Amino acid sequence: MATLALVQHHCIMALNDELYDVLIVGGGPGGLTAATYLRRFRRSVAVIDKGHSRLSLIPVSHNYPGFPDGVNGAELLERMRTQLRHYGGEVHDGEVLELTRSGDLCFVARTSIGEVRARTVLLASGVIDGGMPMERWHEAVACGAIRLCPVCDGYDVKGKKVGVLACEQKPVNHALFLRTYCEHVTLFDREKQSEYSDTDRERLQAGQVRHIASPCVCVTLTDDMKPVVHTADGEEFQFDVVYPMLGETARSTLAVSLGAEVTDCEKLLVDHKQQTTVPGLFAVGDVVRGLNQIAVATGQAAVAATCIHNALPARYA
Ligand SMILES: Cc1cc2nc3c(=O)[nH]c(=O)nc-3n(C[C@H](O)[C@H](O)[C@H](O)COP(=O)(O)OP(=O)(O)OC[C@H]3O[C@@H](n4cnc5c(N)ncnc54)[C@H](O)[C@@H]3O)c2cc1C
Repeated sequence: MATLALVQHHCIMALNDELYDVLIVGGGPGGLTAATYLRRFRRSVAVIDKGHSRLSLIPVSHNYPGFPDGVNGAELLERMRTQLRHYGGEVHDGEVLELTRSGDLCFVARTSIGEVRARTVLLASGVIDGGMPMERWHEAVACGAIRLCPVCDGYDVKGKKVGVLACEQKPVNHALFLRTYCEHVTLFDREKQSEYSDTDRERLQAGQVRHIASPCVCVTLTDDMKPVVHTADGEEFQFDVVYPMLGETARSTLAVSLGAEVTDCEKLLVDHKQQTTVPGLFAVGDVVRGLNQIAVATGQAAVAATCIHNALPARYA
């Protein structure tokens, strides 16, 4: 206990004393990849992460390049942390609570482990998935009975009986996408009935998606982990897999507080260098407008890290 306190104290002192080249908010695949690139560019980097990267929720990902048999999300995260450690980088457990500017040359972050000052900031803080009241949620995600992202794993449910809970903005798109893989796709509305245009209804009919008029009130699991959708009229529908399209909120408030522009769903707008509309403030991964994928987060991180290195004063050997 005493040793841990000493280590934490040392870590806070180290963070406080230095003007870092880059502060990275978030230690998911976006933040860790950027940190590894920046350490290899011989930059000083502080990575602060409050845990629970979405990557750690993935039972097996089959679409991240280089892993022909798939890779467990927590294992991939640990591999990325190990890779960062090879170049003298580390992740500090903590939360960045507030970000301000001090003149043109420095950002100041108030964090749960002390103040951090840095020349540039890279936000890789991800999104928060919308919730759904359901018992054994984590177990259901871990075994693939509940899945959150058809682009990630639609291929892996080929031929299965699938239920989809409609999201508000585009109620029919996910169900139709899943018809690429499955013959039996059933669409439910959440809580109240979604608004369907005539075109939506025609698309559902043409795609042979079954639409249940009575909205879903809850989802339960059978003993052998099959998801069951319960509707307001008392009916029950059992599936192999349910995709509850939950919606999400981007964790962009730190950037917004500095004046960064966002889309209508709070995702950050960035230029071709991954820089937000605030000079010196970069963003990558799910928090940025675009596709929520590991490969996207790591690709954007490579671009951002290289642009940040090129923008900072040269550091010759
Ligand atoms: C169930 C599931 C399955 C998925 N399957 C796949 C798949 O097969 N293939 C694929 O490509 N993608 C998949 N994804 C999506 C993928 O996980 C994300 O696209 C990816 O993790 C995004 O990386 P990121 O670094 O942007 O954000 P995250 O991985 O979410 O990391 C963000 C980190 O920032 C931290 N953070 C946030 N705010 C702060 C703060 N203020 N201070 C400190 N730390 C902070 C968070 O705690 C978190 O650790 C899946 C997602 C889920 C949920």
